[in-house]
Amino acid sequence: MGFLAFFLLPFFVASTAYSFCPITTCTNSTLTPIRFPFHLDQHNTENCSYPGFNLHCTDQGHLAITLPHSGEFLVRVINYETQFMLIDDPDSCLPQRLLEGFDPSGSPFQAEFYVNYTFLSCPRNFTNARFTVIDCLSNSTRSVIATFLTDFTADVSRSCQIIRTLPVPASLSGTGGFTSSLSEDVWLSWHVPDCQDCEARGGVCGYQSNGNQQIGCFKNLQNSGNPQQEHNSKGLKVFRIIAFSIAFPAIACAVGVGVFLCIVDRRDRHAGTQENRALQLIAGTAQPLDTTMGLDQATIDTYAKVVLGESRRVPGVNDGSCPICLSDFSAKETLRCIPECKHCFHADCIDEWLKMNGSCPLCRTSPAHHAQV
Ligand SMILES: [Zn+2]
Ligand SMILES: [Zn+2]
Repeated sequence: MGFLAFFLLPFFVASTAYSFCPITTCTNSTLTPIRFPFHLDQHNTENCSYPGFNLHCTDQGHLAITLPHSGEFLVRVINYETQFMLIDDPDSCLPQRLLEGFDPSGSPFQAEFYVNYTFLSCPRNFTNARFTVIDCLSNSTRSVIATFLTDFTADVSRSCQIIRTLPVPASLSGTGGFTSSLSEDVWLSWHVPDCQDCEARGGVCGYQSNGNQQIGCFKNLQNSGNPQQEHNSKGLKVFRIIAFSIAFPAIACAVGVGVFLCIVDRRDRHAGTQENRALQLIAGTAQPLDTTMGLDQATIDTYAKVVLGESRRVPGVNDGSCPICLSDFSAKETLRCIPECKHCFHADCIDEWLKMNGSCPLCRTSPAHHAQV
């Protein structure tokens, strides 16, 4: 009986109450409710504000944030579970804000990744199918365009002047390439406070009321606006520990057996072909199915180079390591992604590969040959 009480006790431990924080938003914002770690300035009570997450309403009733070095932006999307937000320019000219140099430092937010863009000023009648003219930066005589390409063809060099080259927190467009209109919202993420686990369980984070600024996970009672800490969170934890201690060895066992069987099976089936493939790779003679020639550097340069932000989120579909050299991507490393399949690699790794083989080493997709600018 005492044994049973030991396990049940945590279910009845009284939890500290969640201090009351107003849940609200701006009149013209569809983002409801604004909640921890964000808060609206007019409700800036001490226990509800996490440093750097203060939002405000613009005169038009839109939700906005002011970044210490880059000024005011509208907040379009907040995803509390994956901890990112999308921001836009209140004056609907995001390229202008990016041209001024976007700098989220001094805030809790980081850009996901950067691409070096060159802004060019060209005569109004200059046309090039590769570029979208940025209307809000252009006037009756000059068209402003932006590109991540560095190697310009003669007509561009002759007609256009470089305004500035600088890193831009770019987004992949729907087609997988980097947009030249730079009109997509800027994607920012945050890592502290880390409430992803709490949000994933349907809870919300907040300060505990014991005054020591500790963050707890609370039940999300949106309508009453007064969340209470998850009463069973401790009980849940104990249950998880027990479940985990039983399930983990069982899963580990199953995985071990599975991997062993898989290895044995693969060895049997692919013993010969794998070795041949490796030898071909070393000798540089591996031929893709549909492309027999490597690409020249000018063509390779038409695929954007991406500089990873602190969050090391990869802009493509693969995970956080380079499929060629197998090492993990780290912050500020330069990647290149193949637009057609969105596979990303270290720029140095994929450049060497594409010079010998004109297709993606992962999926064999042949990048379309973009016209050089
Ligand atoms: Zn690599
Ligand atoms: Zn691919």
